[in-house]
Amino acid sequence: MAYGYDAHPALRRWLLELAADYRVLVPAEKGGNRIFQEVGTTDALVFGLAQDRTVLPAKKAFLPPEEMLFEFSAGRILPAMPLDDTIVFGLHVCELSADRLLTANMTHDRPDFHYLVRRNGGIIAGVSCRRTSGCFCEKTGHDQIVPGDFDLFLDLDGCPGWDSAGTGEQCGGGAKTSVAQPRLIAGSAAGRKLAASAPFPLENATGAIRAPVAAASSKTWPLDELPARIRDSFGATIWDDLAARCLGCGNCTIVCPLCYCFYTRDETGLAPETGRRLRLWDSCQLLAFARVAGGHNFRESRSERIWYRFSHKFMRMQETLGHAGCSGCGACFHFCPANIDPQQVIADVLEVTDSA
Ligand code: SF4
Ligand code: SF4
Repeated sequence: MAYGYDAHPALRRWLLELAADYRVLVPAEKGGNRIFQEVGTTDALVFGLAQDRTVLPAKKAFLPPEEMLFEFSAGRILPAMPLDDTIVFGLHVCELSADRLLTANMTHDRPDFHYLVRRNGGIIAGVSCRRTSGCFCEKTGHDQIVPGDFDLFLDLDGCPGWDSAGTGEQCGGGAKTSVAQPRLIAGSAAGRKLAASAPFPLENATGAIRAPVAAASSKTWPLDELPARIRDSFGATIWDDLAARCLGCGNCTIVCPLCYCFYTRDETGLAPETGRRLRLWDSCQLLAFARVAGGHNFRESRSERIWYRFSHKFMRMQETLGHAGCSGCGACFHFCPANIDPQQVIADVLEVTDSA
């Protein structure tokens, strides 16, 4: 598999140097997929920075699929301290936007200690986006990032989507300009410090970075209206139709950069009075997710579970945080065995509530 510019030798050398002091994750090829992998674990790592989406999103760096929260022994609790020295390299605009919203989510009510230690100590670096099949960030309002949403941004191809003049000019298609080599844009003091050893020219961020222009047929969604529309659609047959197709596998939530549900499991050790508590990713699409003590299930039917997923993203997160809980990355559609496309679901919601 050819990765072109991503294999830039100077970039590779720099990331390997950084890996001596940090845990550096980059999208890299494995078995035909892109996966965030640790630089330095193998010399043969094939970078795929500006390519198609990864299987698991970058959230796994700060909210691991499985982690220990604490151990206990003889009546004493020993908290597990998360690592806080991770650099995640190669996030697209929608992924950086999702990272900002996920962090807001993990902070706004009861701050999640383990997530925040990792995230606050982490460094994230974006990379030019060439758009991925099935993505739609312009519809969800996640097609733009500002300094502070990233520490560094690697502009691979001189795209005027780097809107430093604040003109609103966008990149993509034939609008691309050519540059002799990549350049780095610093969006924070930590990013600037890290870039001191980088082999590329460095600029300070002063404006928004936008995703490339979407296809002409793409229309934005009425995000402010969506909470009411989703609420009104409860019980509509569109959810039953989706339930007839959905396998209830949970893939859609696992690959989503903005899903964060988890469950905890206590494991006792072989020695008396010892054990540990783990936190593991969960999915609202699984039957057991809303089952409580006594066996009652608040969302017994698959149609209720699918409606719940969309209501969380387009109703509750929109109302509480002012942004849709969907970045428009298209990963859930790409990895869904039933080809359930959130763009079609929202189109159906708009249609059914238009005629209500
Ligand atoms: S990935 Fe598709 S089939 Fe699986 S739970 Fe999600 S919507 Fe249903
Ligand atoms: S709901 Fe689907 S398209 Fe939206 S952020 Fe999650 S995985 Fe991406």
